[in-house]
Amino acid sequence: MSHDDGGGFIACVSCGGLAAGPCARCRKPVCGDCCVLTSGGAAQWAVCLACDKSEGRSLRRAWLTVFGWLLTPLLALFTAYALLYWLFGD
Ligand SMILES: [Zn+2]
Ligand SMILES: [Zn+2]
Repeated sequence: MSHDDGGGFIACVSCGGLAAGPCARCRKPVCGDCCVLTSGGAAQWAVCLACDKSEGRSLRRAWLTVFGWLLTPLLALFTAYALLYWLFGD
């Protein structure tokens, strides 16, 4: 892969078609079919499907982490309370 056609044709990284523009996140060229438009504030930009998918996944993982951090101490407290009640409660 050392050829350089130097033409105006930029291949989409996803399907190999004519790219419409670079992804706003990874800067890889993508065509209109392989990107999603993301609106943020006043601007609207195109993000490739890979970046869109990875962001959604990481976002969900972040939420799971938050829930984990919230629930773990609550669960530990509840377990301790139940154990104490079971041992000393009448
Ligand atoms: Zn494409
Ligand atoms: Zn991208």
